[in-house]
Amino acid sequence: MARIKMVAGNWKMNKTLQEGVALATQLKEDVKNPSCAVVIGTPFIHLATVAELLKDSPIRLAAENCADKEKGAFTGEVSAEMVKSTGAEYCILGHSERRAYYHEDYEILKNKVELALANGLKVIFCIGEVKEEREAGKQNEVVKAQLEGSVFHLSAEQWKNITLAYEPVWAIGTGLTATPAQAQDMHAYLRSLVADKFGAAAAEDTTILYGGSCNEKNAAELFACPDIDGGLIGGAALVAEKFEAIIAAR
Ligand code: PEP
Repeated sequence: MARIKMVAGNWKMNKTLQEGVALATQLKEDVKNPSCAVVIGTPFIHLATVAELLKDSPIRLAAENCADKEKGAFTGEVSAEMVKSTGAEYCILGHSERRAYYHEDYEILKNKVELALANGLKVIFCIGEVKEEREAGKQNEVVKAQLEGSVFHLSAEQWKNITLAYEPVWAIGTGLTATPAQAQDMHAYLRSLVADKFGAAAAEDTTILYGGSCNEKNAAELFACPDIDGGLIGGAALVAEKFEAIIAAR
């Protein structure tokens, strides 16, 4: 199995339903034959409509979150089963905004990952260190703990449905991008951890995305690194032309 190259968008809490439909419609129109996998992560309320719209498109759909409980009296939550029922194929989990603002710890994320996989979703699992950790040279131990805490207990079979996204928190939405060398070093380290856990072949097949102020100007340089398989894109995914330029760079 060859490693999948991918550009994924994360719309976060942006776009009304109408604006989201307009953006997805334009992407569908423009992205007909991409040379990599293309995924858009939208708010829950867009999923069913956008899934229908993308039915005959190569663009795949992701939720940005799912509940850590299966079902029941959890007002306001959206389960992995519900996400799957919309037609979405992926779920972004472990994003630093959810870890920081919604206190999603290793155990909560472990539950979410298990429920997403059990319901047939693929997971884009985000990891990354904050600025102080990078300055203290602790980035490797931080990402290792994040993997061990939430996804390294999975079986080899389950691991096939995991895409990793390295997103240094200091680079998300800040305009500060990790240098290609910093990102490549980390991606190579992550791949070595996956090799230790699941074997060399699984590591070779694992898609590892870079995220953090990746845009149409710096994407090509980042994607040229051997262990950077694509990008998880926030701000630049909200503008069709920018997102399409990043896809073209992959
Ligand atoms: C993200 O939120 O996943 C992200 C990478 O954001 P941005 O591209 O805006 O830094």
